[in-house]
Amino acid sequence: MVQVTLLGSGATRPLPHRALAALWLQVGGRGLLFDCGEGTQVSAQRFGASLYKLDTLLLTHYHGDHLFGLPGLLQSMAALGRTEPVTVAGPPGLDGVLDAVLTLAGPLPFALCRHTFGDCRGSLALPSGAVVTAFPARHRVPCCSYLYTLPRAGRFDPDKAKALGIPVALWRSLQAGQPAGGFTPDQVLGPARRGLRLLYATDTEPTAELAELARGADLLCMDATYADDADAPKARLYGHATCAEAGALAAEAGVRRLWLTHYSAAVTDPEAGLAAARRQFPAAEAGFDGKTLTLTFDDSRKDTP
Ligand SMILES: [Zn+2]
Ligand SMILES: [Zn+2]
Repeated sequence: MVQVTLLGSGATRPLPHRALAALWLQVGGRGLLFDCGEGTQVSAQRFGASLYKLDTLLLTHYHGDHLFGLPGLLQSMAALGRTEPVTVAGPPGLDGVLDAVLTLAGPLPFALCRHTFGDCRGSLALPSGAVVTAFPARHRVPCCSYLYTLPRAGRFDPDKAKALGIPVALWRSLQAGQPAGGFTPDQVLGPARRGLRLLYATDTEPTAELAELARGADLLCMDATYADDADAPKARLYGHATCAEAGALAAEAGVRRLWLTHYSAAVTDPEAGLAAARRQFPAAEAGFDGKTLTLTFDDSRKDTP
């Protein structure tokens, strides 16, 4: 189960009730943050995201609206007594950015483990058991879109466990995918089941690769900088999408849910482009700061794991 909270749904500059880009994911006691725009730590407190649980921070790119919250957030984590390491990952250029951030934040009582996605591609295994895959967005600067996958083990077979003489006390560990008492999970688990898939794609134009990787995803949280279809030329110029384009991509990919986000500061109502998105994808939802959702495993879906 993954708890998803949109901490910031704005672009370029914050508005009184709209912080800049940030999306929080929590699995058990593990927290993950996509982007860290100005105001992220305030939104985290406001919407109940415990920064103490943050172990991975994934930056899409190095425009200020996605990272100016970083020095303050790291400093606050230090003040909260954080000592566990934090992994920070992003496209090429990460070292220079983090050096500058650390100059501002000062020495930290925890390690920052850096991971650069060369060519905006690569995968990162997370402590929660999830895997994040980076792939290139189409923006004005190198920018990663991210596919987050939480795998799900196969179904536990108690008859097999009994036949193998495995003590009941070990079943829970094996069920959770952990070897126990000399037995391995593959002895008692069926084939892997469909896990959870979420895409975080901003700032980007719609791309064929994004549509392909988003196929059947549980949630697509996508760039919808412009509400008006007439702004499509501007979206091409600056490497963004309109609400209608986000809807069209969601429909093409057959995603389960679409959250619009990264609204231009000129779009003061988050629902301004919702009708345009829904003409393409009726289930589209307008993102807003604090919007939250619990993604749970779903046995009724038979599509690929
Ligand atoms: Zn942006
Ligand atoms: Zn940008």
